Amino acid sequence: MASQVTFIGAGNMASAIFGGMIEGGYPATAITATSPSDEHLAPLRQRYGIRTETDNTKAVANADVVVLAVKPQIMRDVCAAMRDAIQARKPLIVSVAAGLGADTLETWLGGELAVIRCMPNTPSLVGAGASGLYANSRVSDAQRQLATGLLEAVGLVEWVDEESLLEAVTAISGSGPAYFFLFFEALEAAGVRLGLPAASARRLALQTAYGAARMAQQSDKDPATLKQNVMSPGGTTERAIHSFEAAELRRIVEEATEACAARAREMA
Ligand code: NAD
Repeated sequence: MASQVTFIGAGNMASAIFGGMIEGGYPATAITATSPSDEHLAPLRQRYGIRTETDNTKAVANADVVVLAVKPQIMRDVCAAMRDAIQARKPLIVSVAAGLGADTLETWLGGELAVIRCMPNTPSLVGAGASGLYANSRVSDAQRQLATGLLEAVGLVEWVDEESLLEAVTAISGSGPAYFFLFFEALEAAGVRLGLPAASARRLALQTAYGAARMAQQSDKDPATLKQNVMSPGGTTERAIHSFEAAELRRIVEEATEACAARAREMA
C-alpha cells in the first residue's frame, strides 16, 4: 500500500510535488494537503482528488511522511502546534523550507525524528527541477528511497552526505535558474544589438539553452568536449569562446557561486 503523505502547506512547491506524484501514478487518496483556509484547498481537491485538511494536527495523525512546505518564517509556530501529534506518530519529516537545519526542525517537532532536508528549485514547478537532499542519521534506507521517489516526481534528485553541502547545492541549482535567466537576457539583448527582433532573439536563445542542456545530458562526452566539437579552428565559435575566456567568465561564475553559498551559510 502507498505511504500516506501529508503536505503541511499547499502552495507552489507542495502542489508541484504532489501534482508530479499523481501524474507519475501515485494514488491521490494517499495524499493530504493542508492550509488554514478551505477556500484555497477546495480547488486542489477538485483538480487532484487529494484529501485536504485545515487542521495540521489531524492531517499528520495517520501520515507516514510529513512534507513541511510552509514559508520558513512561520515554520517554528507551525511545528510547535503539531509537536504532540508528530511525536505520537513519528513519521518521516521532509522539509523543503530554505535555510532551516535538520536539527532545528527536529527540535521544534520534539526530537528523535527522521528528518530529510530538501533544497528544490523553481523549475520543479514545470517538472524539471533539481533537488539536493540530506538525511539525518535516523533516516532508514527505505525512507531515503521513499523520499527519492517523491522528489523525483518533479525532477532530478541528488543526495549529499553532509548538511553543509546543501549550501553548495543552493549555489549551483537552488539559485541557478536565475543565473541562466540572466544569461538569456544578455543573449537576447545581444541578438537585438545584432539586428534580430527581440522575440526572435529570445526564442533562439531559449531553444539553444534547452538543446544544449538536452544534448549534454544525453551525451557520453563531457561539456568541455562538446564545446570543443562546436569550435572549429579559426571559426566563429572559437572567437566567441576566446572572448568569454578573456573576460574571465570562469572566475565570474566562481565568485558568484561563492557569494551565494556564503549568503546561504549566513542564513542557516
Ligand atoms: P507558498 O506561499 O506558495 O505556499 C505556502 C503555503 O502554506 C500556502 O498554501 C499557505 O496557505 C500555506 N500555509 C500558511 N500557513 C499555514 C499553516 N499554518 N499551516 C498549513 N499551511 C499553511 O510558498 P512556496 O513557494 O510553496 O514555498 C513553500 C516552501 O518551499 C518554503 O519554505 C520555501 O522556502 C520552499 N521553497 C520554495 C521554492 C519555490 O520555488 N517556490 C524553492 C525552494 C524552496
